[in-house]
Amino acid sequence: MVKGAVRLRERLQDVIRGHILIEEPLCRHTYFRIGGPAEVMVYPADVEDLKVLLAVARDESVPVLVLGSGSNMLVLDGGVEGVVINLSRTFLDLSAVDGLVRCGAGVRTSRLLALAARSGLTGFEGLTGVPGTVGGAIRGNAGTPSGTILDHLDWIRVVDCSGEERLLSRGEMNTGYRSCALPTGAVIVEAAFTLRKGVPVEIRRTISTLLVRRNLTQPVEFRSAGCIFKNPLGDFAGRLVELAELKRLRRGGAEISGTHGNFIVNLGGATAADVLWLVDRARTEVRAKTGVALELEIQVVGSPGAR
Ligand SMILES: Cc1cc2nc3c(=O)[nH]c(=O)nc-3n(C[C@H](O)[C@H](O)[C@H](O)COP(=O)(O)OP(=O)(O)OC[C@H]3O[C@@H](n4cnc5c(N)ncnc54)[C@H](O)[C@@H]3O)c2cc1C
Repeated sequence: MVKGAVRLRERLQDVIRGHILIEEPLCRHTYFRIGGPAEVMVYPADVEDLKVLLAVARDESVPVLVLGSGSNMLVLDGGVEGVVINLSRTFLDLSAVDGLVRCGAGVRTSRLLALAARSGLTGFEGLTGVPGTVGGAIRGNAGTPSGTILDHLDWIRVVDCSGEERLLSRGEMNTGYRSCALPTGAVIVEAAFTLRKGVPVEIRRTISTLLVRRNLTQPVEFRSAGCIFKNPLGDFAGRLVELAELKRLRRGGAEISGTHGNFIVNLGGATAADVLWLVDRARTEVRAKTGVALELEIQVVGSPGAR
């Protein structure tokens, strides 16, 4: 395993300018603080580096996983085979000219929201308190009932699996609840949004109200991956988990939050196996009690045991 990683690193070192790590523990890079190692992790220097990286991965038939801030991800304990492309330090440009906002995929969603608020632009308030990068937010159409990131999207620039850059308009992305369709293997590198002029004081007031509400209703003091399950149509996954009397159920270092039934928190030392056990229990009991089949909102990646 390590031999394969060393060989891949050597191959990449010849052609990549970005930073390359081998057997890097992904618990250092996920919001949950859970996850085994990435065989190889690369921080591409720029879009050309990304293209070369994707081409090498394709030529060598190496699997690729794109990582933003890892705030919507459960990485399994055996880690991730192949290359993890970490975009949290690349594509960080951000600008607002009139109502047009252009933003690199590695920019934190909180930074995007702050720039919009400072510029007196309204539309992103629903993203208050959503961690992660703009690339990850677009991939999962992140948001709240007050709005999602794709509501104001004009286009994204992606690098597809053949290394070509393409612009996709929102209409080409088949957007839905916590989802959007991208060409297979496409990596988002930039996005453009059009926002309306708002009243700065009202924008700031909405943001603080939403922040206070989030802090009161979510277990913000613990590590988590946000909501574990998608809300079923017309209902709330957290309500169903509560109805099944599963709040505060523990397994190892993981617990179904007592504050919000749709959060599993890492109390310290939780493994992915602990989290999956709770996920399975919640799905089984909610189905038995209510007939509803809960669907995962988080992305589960990697292998359960040693690779
Ligand atoms: C405390 C907490 C609260 C949260 N609250 C909310 C909320 O209110 N609403 C909500 O929608 N979400 C919420 N989330 C989930 C999460 O913050 C969002 O989904 C976030 O947008 C994910 O961004 P990320 O950069 O962390 O993505 P990651 O977790 O790194 O990746 C998520 C997915 O996107 C893919 N991806 C990431 N970047 C790119 C890219 N550039 N190109 C292509 N694919 C990419 C990854 O491969 C993966 O499949 C919350 C999470 C936490 C921990």
